[in-house]
Amino acid sequence: MDKDTDFHLFGKLNTEFDTITAMIDLYCLNHHQINTNKFQRCTNCEQFRAYVKQRLDRCPYGENKPSCKQCPIHCYKPQQKVNSQTIMRYSGPKMIVKHPIMAIRHLIHDKRSIPVINRDMISNYKRRKSLLNNK
Ligand SMILES: [Zn+2]
Repeated sequence: MDKDTDFHLFGKLNTEFDTITAMIDLYCLNHHQINTNKFQRCTNCEQFRAYVKQRLDRCPYGENKPSCKQCPIHCYKPQQKVNSQTIMRYSGPKMIVKHPIMAIRHLIHDKRSIPVINRDMISNYKRRKSLLNNK
């Protein structure tokens, strides 16, 4: 994995990342596997996952992040957005069977209203940097 993605996401951001990872893996499992004995995420999906992690890290809402579907910012590049929609469309309905707790949490999160951005909100990235500086 790229060294740039070797960082920690806090709280809800990490939960969201786990959920998206599960969706990527479901998609990859049924579309990109060559050796069917052992699941290994393909290079494209691995790169997409790293991209998602970086977007979550930079999200200015931080842990108050709304669901991407509702978010007014639209921070994904066009190609990555298409990628994301393809994966969500395929894996979304399957999540309720494979990972019911994650799926329900995701559905609740989707319905939550969009918070107004304010100065108390801090991106994961800024939080990581400030923790480093305080050491
Ligand atoms: Zn894949």
